[in-house]
Amino acid sequence: MLRDVPHARFERHVTLLGRRYALVLDQRRGPVMVWGARAFRAIRSEQDKRPVPLLEDGHRRWWLFEDRIWAGDGDLDTDDVLALVRDRSRRRRRRVAHARAALAHDRAHRDAGGHATRTDRRGRRRDPERPPTGPTADRATPADRRHRRPIPVDVRRAVWTRDDGRCTACGTDFDLQFDHVIPIATGGADTVENLQVLCGPCNRAKGATVG
Ligand SMILES: [Zn+2]
Repeated sequence: MLRDVPHARFERHVTLLGRRYALVLDQRRGPVMVWGARAFRAIRSEQDKRPVPLLEDGHRRWWLFEDRIWAGDGDLDTDDVLALVRDRSRRRRRRVAHARAALAHDRAHRDAGGHATRTDRRGRRRDPERPPTGPTADRATPADRRHRRPIPVDVRRAVWTRDDGRCTACGTDFDLQFDHVIPIATGGADTVENLQVLCGPCNRAKGATVG
């Protein structure tokens, strides 16, 4: 969709015709686009305000925004790119907030002399020999739970893989659950389309807004 291209950079060349700025996306391929000094200055000042398209190859378009180079699908426009970049930093901030909350929780727990049940969980998650098995708990109302079969394993696996083993709202890999986008109680099904991975805090926040 949209990703930053950390190795991309601009090279400045001094030529007989003045300064030239060349965009290099990949060191082996060399420059893919060259601008004169005035055009480049215009791009540089514009990209402080909004994403500026640099070039496209039919499938993808490259953008300069806030001193970073981004590669996105060819159909994304300026507002799409802006929205995706902002969404990305919002997710990152939320992830940091979650991580800090988890750390504070661990510390409080340890200070209280409790045994960290989370340590097992976290250790298991990080063990490279054992791939994550996915969330085990699904948050359901007691009424739901009485009438419900467990979510089929292949559905759980597909949802987990699609969501990359992370909360789809904030990106954390901590305290994860399967969430029904449309609740079972209002006709939602145990399908891949109707399920998503959420962390406990995001699931509770969703519950609070949905009612
Ligand atoms: Zn979350």
